[in-house]
Amino acid sequence: MVPGFLLKSSLRFAAMLGVAASGLALAPGCAPADSADSRTVIAVTLLPQAAFVEAVAGNLVDIVVMVPPGASPHTYEVTPEQMVALSRARMYARVGSPVEFELTWMDKLIDANREMVVVDCSRGIELIESDGEAHEEESSEEHADEDHVHSGADPHIWLSVRNAQVMVKNTCDGLVQVDPANANVYRANCEAYVAELAALDAELATAFQDLEQRHFIVFHPSFGYLARDYELTQIAVEQGGSEPDAQYLIRLIEEAKEHGIRVVLAAPQFSTRSAEVVAQEIGGEVVIVDPLAHDYITNIRAIAEAIQRVT
Ligand code: ZN
Repeated sequence: MVPGFLLKSSLRFAAMLGVAASGLALAPGCAPADSADSRTVIAVTLLPQAAFVEAVAGNLVDIVVMVPPGASPHTYEVTPEQMVALSRARMYARVGSPVEFELTWMDKLIDANREMVVVDCSRGIELIESDGEAHEEESSEEHADEDHVHSGADPHIWLSVRNAQVMVKNTCDGLVQVDPANANVYRANCEAYVAELAALDAELATAFQDLEQRHFIVFHPSFGYLARDYELTQIAVEQGGSEPDAQYLIRLIEEAKEHGIRVVLAAPQFSTRSAEVVAQEIGGEVVIVDPLAHDYITNIRAIAEAIQRVT
């Protein structure tokens, strides 16, 4: 695993900044400063948020992603290397929904860097209940403490293109706050990206409009907000955040047959075993979609296409 998972901005731009910084800070003859030190570092929890920061900030910042590719935000543990990378961050864009990673780690991350501005990307987003599907940690004892009061809400807010627009604007507000010199750039980029997301939302609304069969099955219920946006119904294979028992599976298979569902969605972060069992029973197939892919717009299109295959 790459320590801190630093997404580097373009080398050419890094070199420019490096020259400027060394010209200001160093006596002649000294080695140039590491250009990475002179760029604003922005930390985010999830890879899709890195896409949001890149869309708004372009090459002006370096990004530290706390939950690396392939890891699950329901279980991931921060490494010491990530703590070091985080100590350079000027801002932390938290998802702000009750995602386990932030419930468990946010206080420790703030303790490790008291200077950084913490932006709540969920500000202005209405949380919905998580389909009665508790997430992994909810059965463990530590859920008794009051930090977990809101854990009945669905944490997967970023998978709604409408929510994403709000998250991008909140991210932009934070960037303007920590780096006001580039406020005009951030605001213009933000406006353009939000317009792109609005167009994507309209495209999906049209695509889903005339679907006859509006139920879809997914192993881990990541798409509650997306389902809400387009009046679809998400059915989880997971039962209360863990593998389903036989009785639940039988009911699920009946429900799938009733609706004529032929596709079971699964994610690379989870085992596909029970998804395959369901798919086999309904004479269908498992389609892998990633709720955490970096390239947000392309990935949402892929998810929407996979959901449309249920008809
Ligand atoms: Zn999840």
